[in-house]
Amino acid sequence: MIEHFGVPERNKRKPAPVDLLIATILSQNTNDNNSYEAYQNLKRKYSDWNQLVKAPLKEIEKTIKKAGLTNQKAGAIKNLVVNLSRDNRLDMKFIKKMDNKEALEYLTSFKGIGIKTASCVLLFSLYRNVCPVDTHVHRTLNRIGIVNEKSPEKTFLRINENLPEGIAHSLHTNLIKLGRGICRPTNPDCTVCPISDLCAYPEKKHSKSSKTKEKRLFIAR
Ligand code: SF4
Repeated sequence: MIEHFGVPERNKRKPAPVDLLIATILSQNTNDNNSYEAYQNLKRKYSDWNQLVKAPLKEIEKTIKKAGLTNQKAGAIKNLVVNLSRDNRLDMKFIKKMDNKEALEYLTSFKGIGIKTASCVLLFSLYRNVCPVDTHVHRTLNRIGIVNEKSPEKTFLRINENLPEGIAHSLHTNLIKLGRGICRPTNPDCTVCPISDLCAYPEKKHSKSSKTKEKRLFIAR
């Protein structure tokens, strides 16, 4: 996948855990453009997250309207900042001292924060070797045959049991690229798949002629 998609770039600056949590809550069940716009609106309205503590829920809902599920997402965001601000811990520096298990347990104890959101904080903000599992990562890992699990939560536990050091960011990011562009939920395009030879999916389609494959590999990049 690295040969095909390249090594994914990382942000020059690590995002603060609370920023990433809020952004990931907003990204649930919507596309990147909508969640980005909702996050920017929120940042513009409340330049300091402490201001969210006293903000009326309806006002937060209106501000993040673009992200959808506003009631649920505004509630989760408000609950998070209210709890963190109580102990003056909005910077979440304390989480850096926790090991992965402790940090995941702590983060998922908040309403509206599941294992996927929590593991994104570990990978993208703390640079831990943890591979979050969304629907694309779950589908591709199971089709390839690396795991055999029914739910993303179980796939997450399985894949992270013995993940080789230093691969989580590249694995996660490239599996999402694979799942969005090639190994789609229906009609996976196995003829252009860079890991077709390794894949154990029983419904895998066989390669077309090498010339067609080369052309389509180029298009898929
Ligand atoms: S060969 Fe097909 S099923 Fe297997 S990972 Fe590639 S696109 Fe998905």
